[in-house]
Amino acid sequence: MLEVRGVSVRYGQSAPALRSLDLKAGPGRVTAVVGGNGAGKSTLMKAVSGALGFDSGRLVEGEILLEGKPVHRLGPTALVRRGIAHVPEGRRVFADLTVEENLRAGAATVRGRVQERLDEAYGMFEVLARRRRQRAVLLSGGEQQMLAIARGLMSGPRLLLLDEPSLGLAPKVVERIGEIISLIREQGTGVLVVEQNAAMALSVADDGYVLEQGSAVLSGTAAQLRATDEVQQLYLGGSGTADELLQFADRAPLQRWSA
Ligand code: ATP
Repeated sequence: MLEVRGVSVRYGQSAPALRSLDLKAGPGRVTAVVGGNGAGKSTLMKAVSGALGFDSGRLVEGEILLEGKPVHRLGPTALVRRGIAHVPEGRRVFADLTVEENLRAGAATVRGRVQERLDEAYGMFEVLARRRRQRAVLLSGGEQQMLAIARGLMSGPRLLLLDEPSLGLAPKVVERIGEIISLIREQGTGVLVVEQNAAMALSVADDGYVLEQGSAVLSGTAAQLRATDEVQQLYLGGSGTADELLQFADRAPLQRWSA
């Protein structure tokens, strides 16, 4: 279980990118965090994966706990060893390395079981098995995203962090990514996914949060979120008129359902 407790993050002297955020990602569950541009989604991923320092971000308040133990002072390598793997936005595969070399790089900080995990990756991502000796630069955007996810799984994480996995991909590929997230959960790995594509994320998730300006403004089960007018209109492409949308402008800053 991952628990984000009252976390605020700043970059330099600018306004906080996360503001007293509370969030939980249960073991073996898919937790979706949806929100628009600049809501703080990538900042959340960086805070949980120990990567804030690379962008001169600082956790200025709160704590992040994994299985009850504080982990917010650990760096990325230590966090991978504790079972958290981060698939950053924009895929960032090693373009000049082959598919297999990329996968092996994902297992670099953990010991053993590399061949077994490669076999699992090729079982789950058949397209990668076929192209294992090709350089990653030759893969399509969708295939590179699959490679980035497979590389994240190579460390055998308990929790996989996915930052906007659907970004820039065709609807059919986005659908496939949704299926892969479900498969990962079936194998017992928890997933924390942040997405602008709320339809995809909330369709595969068990639990969800809506993030706006660094705060969780709504949270509940994914089914509860999908059913709210606000999420329908603002995030699921509802046909709300300007007047209908205005009714949400003064809503309470934080609503919670008991999950
Ligand atoms: P997007 O969907 O556009 O990627 P996001 O929800 O992931 O957005 P973040 O990238 O976390 O949002 O940004 C949250 C806020 O923090 C924004 O106001 C952004 O301008 C600011 N921010 C993000 N990275 C930095 C940085 N390296 N330095 C300064 N400010 C930053």
